[in-house]
Amino acid sequence: MATFKEFRNNVKPNWCPGCGDFSIQAAIQRAAANVGLEPENLAVISGIGCSGRISGYINAYGLHGIHGRALPIAQGVKLANRELTVIASGGDGDGFAIGMGHTVHAIRRNIDITYIVMDNQIYGLTKGQTSPRSAEGFKTKSTPEGSIESVLSPLEIALSAGATFVAQSFSSDLKQLTALIEAGLNHKGFSLINVFSPCVTFNKVNTYDWFKENIVNLSQFPDYDPTNRIAAMNKIMETNGLLTGLIYQNTARKPYEDLIAGFQPEGLARQDLKLTSDEFDKL
Ligand code: SF4
Ligand code: MG
Repeated sequence: MATFKEFRNNVKPNWCPGCGDFSIQAAIQRAAANVGLEPENLAVISGIGCSGRISGYINAYGLHGIHGRALPIAQGVKLANRELTVIASGGDGDGFAIGMGHTVHAIRRNIDITYIVMDNQIYGLTKGQTSPRSAEGFKTKSTPEGSIESVLSPLEIALSAGATFVAQSFSSDLKQLTALIEAGLNHKGFSLINVFSPCVTFNKVNTYDWFKENIVNLSQFPDYDPTNRIAAMNKIMETNGLLTGLIYQNTARKPYEDLIAGFQPEGLARQDLKLTSDEFDKL
């Protein structure tokens, strides 16, 4: 059985020293080993951004895609080879700005992949512009007077879109993050794991200390029921989106690939299909 170190290749990550993305890679490697994967069973598909480099750093199949398109590629990989475990990964700009249309539809489609977003509330690779996750009033080169747009709440959107697995964590909490990635890998369906990952170079507001002070760990609420969608929505709102832990899971809904396994309407399987309008009506 592969150890977590075997999921690391010999490419040295060039993230800035202290970037949260290092710990997220470590958690992915540990989770992959803990669920019994071998490198040849895993594919890591990433988008563009500092975090998007991760597909080049993990010893597995990998593809560094284009901006905002990690999810269409990852879904295609999974449908083409259902034996593979597929992780999609990228930043908050990648997944919640240019890629948001794909994110919402991947959530509702519920193909069995695990989507790990490295959420640093800024665009790091392009040297510090406001992202959909930046707070109102957040000053960057693109918003010198402070952001005047409201902050996107990906967890609320995910629940509204019919998500079957929603979790959030903090890059510094390696134990919780590893356990959540394991749970996401074991979940049969689309898993969204949003991870606060401080950008130490460009985000001087949402720092490690800021997260430690503001995060609300679900372990504080022993009676919390992660199968209750309304309770999940309420708790996300009550905590201003700073909740960490397994927030929601629905194991009753089958993944997309199970639902299409027997989906062969007679008309579609025919090779000689020529329709009259009457036949068309009967399809
Ligand atoms: Fe990490 Fe920010 Fe450096 Fe990018 S710019 S590697 S997100 S610390
Ligand atoms: Mg970002």
